[in-house]
Amino acid sequence: MSDTPVNLLDLNLPALTDQVKAWGQPAFRAKQLYRQLWLKQTESFDDMSDLPAAFRELLKEKACISTLRELLVRRGDGGLTRKSVFALPGNETVEAVLMVYPGRATVCVSSQAGCPMGCTFCATAKLGFRQDLSPGDIAHQVLWAQRELQKIPTDLDSKAHRHKVFGPEDVPARLTNVVFMGMGEPFNNYDNWRESVNRLHDPDGFNFGARNFTVSTVGLVPGIIKLMDDPMQINLAISLHAADDEIRSEMMPVNRRYPIADLMDAVREYTAKTHRRVSFEYVLIEGKNDTKAEAEKLADVLMEKGKFPMHVNLIPLNPVADSGMTRSNRDQVTGFRNYLENRGIPATVRIQRGQDIDAACGQLAGDLAKELAAQK
Ligand code: SF4
Repeated sequence: MSDTPVNLLDLNLPALTDQVKAWGQPAFRAKQLYRQLWLKQTESFDDMSDLPAAFRELLKEKACISTLRELLVRRGDGGLTRKSVFALPGNETVEAVLMVYPGRATVCVSSQAGCPMGCTFCATAKLGFRQDLSPGDIAHQVLWAQRELQKIPTDLDSKAHRHKVFGPEDVPARLTNVVFMGMGEPFNNYDNWRESVNRLHDPDGFNFGARNFTVSTVGLVPGIIKLMDDPMQINLAISLHAADDEIRSEMMPVNRRYPIADLMDAVREYTAKTHRRVSFEYVLIEGKNDTKAEAEKLADVLMEKGKFPMHVNLIPLNPVADSGMTRSNRDQVTGFRNYLENRGIPATVRIQRGQDIDAACGQLAGDLAKELAAQK
């Protein structure tokens, strides 16, 4: 029999009940345990005071709440942005970021350690693919963010108050959005990603609303097709970043497999079937994809076969070391957005968060992974 601890967040209530019974415990203990894990987000077996001491000892021996181990939390924006780096058992690392705004709080979570997609502007791509995260390990990052959020009202730096009228009363009690936009491509780990949504959505557990999840893909068409048949109303975001196949293939190798025309056909089919709005993410890189000509191409691609519910998020690049790429200047960003809006395409410039924590997504985890490897 395997000595590997049972990863409890991987289990739904029926599976947890089977496991608890297999340990010789009455079935109702599973409900108590499930409540501790998902409703109270309890981090340690010792704090599960409604469970008998002997059962808690058994859990310590046979199970873990998640395989992720928190290495550090960095705070930015006066405490309103928090990035946590977690280590997996083999010392691979992943990041999750909590961002708090007046009345809303978003967590951006990772679905894989490293990433095989090779986007040239991305720090995570430099790590290559390391491993898929399990459903529980993906969900764990959300539970971490919820715990962290609860600390914020009593834990803000004075700088936070310079973010216009931001006081403890502006911090929501619950997370309002979960976005799968951290390290990895969620559709490359589709089943585990989707199961993590089930775990978080369960009304008997964390009870997070389906419409408040957003999954982001580089454009893996089979994943989009799968999602359009999913009865759960999860939001879809497409990392587009260029409207020209040559430029996009250079920035995102996946475009050679699923070029823009195929991707847009899948997106149009998705919106026709689900009637849901799609977001397009567009990182603006100086001189690469930020010119007027590129804005025109983008509008043409999006409107080619008629308007559908859409929104474009323009994101000035968070430069990655040694990439040779820089972010577009403010005028270029504004001009790009204005052009899209004049063509009837809703577009916003994404507010930059966490710039005082470190640089691009994946960079901090990558640096820590190197440190851990050196300690082996
Ligand atoms: S941008 Fe996303 S899909 Fe592309 S390499 Fe980075 S983590 Fe992977």
